[in-house]
Amino acid sequence: MHDKDYQVIIIGAGFSGLCMAIKLQQAGLRDFLILEGASEVGGTWRENTYPGAECDIPSALYSYSFEHNSAWEFKWSEQQQIFDYQKNIAKKYDLYEKVAFDQQVESAVFDEDQSVWSITSVKGDTFRCQHVVSAVGQLHLPAQPDFAGEEHYTGAKFHSAKWDHSVELAGKRVAVIGNAASALQFIPQIAPLVEHLTVFQRSANWVIAKQDRSYGSIEQWVSEKVPLITRLYRLSLWLRGECLVLPAMRRNRIAQRLLKWMAQKSLRRVIQDPELIKKLTPDYPIGAKRILFSDDYYGALVRDNVHLDTSGVKQFTEQGILRNDGVEESFDVVIYGTGFKTNPFLASIDVQGLGGRPLREHWQGGAHAYLGITTYDFPNFYMMYGPNTNLGHNSIIIMIEAQARYIVKCIERLAISGQKTLQVKEAVESQYNEEIQARLKKMSFADVKESWYMDGGRITNNWAGSTLEYRRRLRKVNWNNYLIT
Ligand code: NAP
Repeated sequence: MHDKDYQVIIIGAGFSGLCMAIKLQQAGLRDFLILEGASEVGGTWRENTYPGAECDIPSALYSYSFEHNSAWEFKWSEQQQIFDYQKNIAKKYDLYEKVAFDQQVESAVFDEDQSVWSITSVKGDTFRCQHVVSAVGQLHLPAQPDFAGEEHYTGAKFHSAKWDHSVELAGKRVAVIGNAASALQFIPQIAPLVEHLTVFQRSANWVIAKQDRSYGSIEQWVSEKVPLITRLYRLSLWLRGECLVLPAMRRNRIAQRLLKWMAQKSLRRVIQDPELIKKLTPDYPIGAKRILFSDDYYGALVRDNVHLDTSGVKQFTEQGILRNDGVEESFDVVIYGTGFKTNPFLASIDVQGLGGRPLREHWQGGAHAYLGITTYDFPNFYMMYGPNTNLGHNSIIIMIEAQARYIVKCIERLAISGQKTLQVKEAVESQYNEEIQARLKKMSFADVKESWYMDGGRITNNWAGSTLEYRRRLRKVNWNNYLIT
């Protein structure tokens, strides 16, 4: 039992948690603790170590606006460099001393009498605080579907987010289930090593050439010495997302045609076989699921030792997988590139608000939050990268920074006034959610029945507008929208 009461506890030390901590420090609010389940900072960039892991948003934009890094080696950085960037930032801002590592949070319960949150970790330690900031991310819990007969399979298997580096892939027969953002990055890396690779594709994806390249030393020098150029470069990357990709997600025909043309060009440049082109062409509008970027995915699929299966996994056997087309293939290793359990939000933590009400119950029918940050009946509980804040078109770091600034304002307000709790009014949140849901229905995300953006058909993960709009809405806190006691 830790008897110290903190003003703020942040759960998670990834991009969101670190940003929150920095913004609190900058506001002079130093009475905070970060609870981190692992033994290092980094979040998703610590967890995902699969071969070829890198960011699909250019690093000049996928980095804090207040922490420019002129040392990026590639336009799209690899996992290790992003992870190093995070660790350097944690060091620079003395955040390591503010983190309690190996403290996987199990529950967060609001004590109404004392207006205090009580947070318990899996280890059994309890921490108390006035404000909780959840910074656990949306893509944290690996989703591994259950296939019939899996228990009889005798080969190795693991999920891409928990890559088992002890399993030797060279010369092995390997199956990859899934073909989206993660799988498309590691398939080209492992294809040349293995004896045979079968990629199990359930749906095709729209893939656009990444045109990655390294930055030369002159560019790195300019990036360090000429801040104006750096800012203009960041602006140009941001504008591309806002002006080209976002309109496509808003079903703008011209933008959709242009992106579709780019994707088809990338496909046809590498693949000539009409049957394979057909298999690799999605049957849904571009933007409905995450648009993928790769320079080497299609090249990997046309290798002699790679087979793209679209019949599907019927069941596992002792030796491998029985496909739906009746063919049984033997595999030494099966790799799940099957993504993450994005719903329900905060699934791994038992959060209880007013009257002991579980957040899971509160969110039956799908997660919701005012501005993606707060939800009624959960006073002093804030979320970063919460419901309806994911982007399909731009860097999530922009959203995270806006959220951190907003949450600081809320915490400061109570600190200055001496009041105890702040919670959004139910009517305000309901009206906000109705607006967001109505707008999302008109966007491309609604053009598929299922995706990780949804919970039972309701789009719970994605933001409905531009990053500019989001920042504008978060610039000031409208205190009339909150009950402050
Ligand atoms: P994902 O987008 O959810 O893709 C999961 C894949 O597994 C899909 O191909 C899916 O097919 C397939 N799948 C799931 N369940 C299956 C089943 N029961 N049988 C057969 N196939 C199944 O997961 P992800 O690729 O890990 O990416 C998740 C998100 O993480 C991305 O959208 C992105 O936001 C983020 N990410 C980012 C980067 C980056 O560069 N920054 C890299 C990796 C991931 P269906 O399409 O048919 O559902």
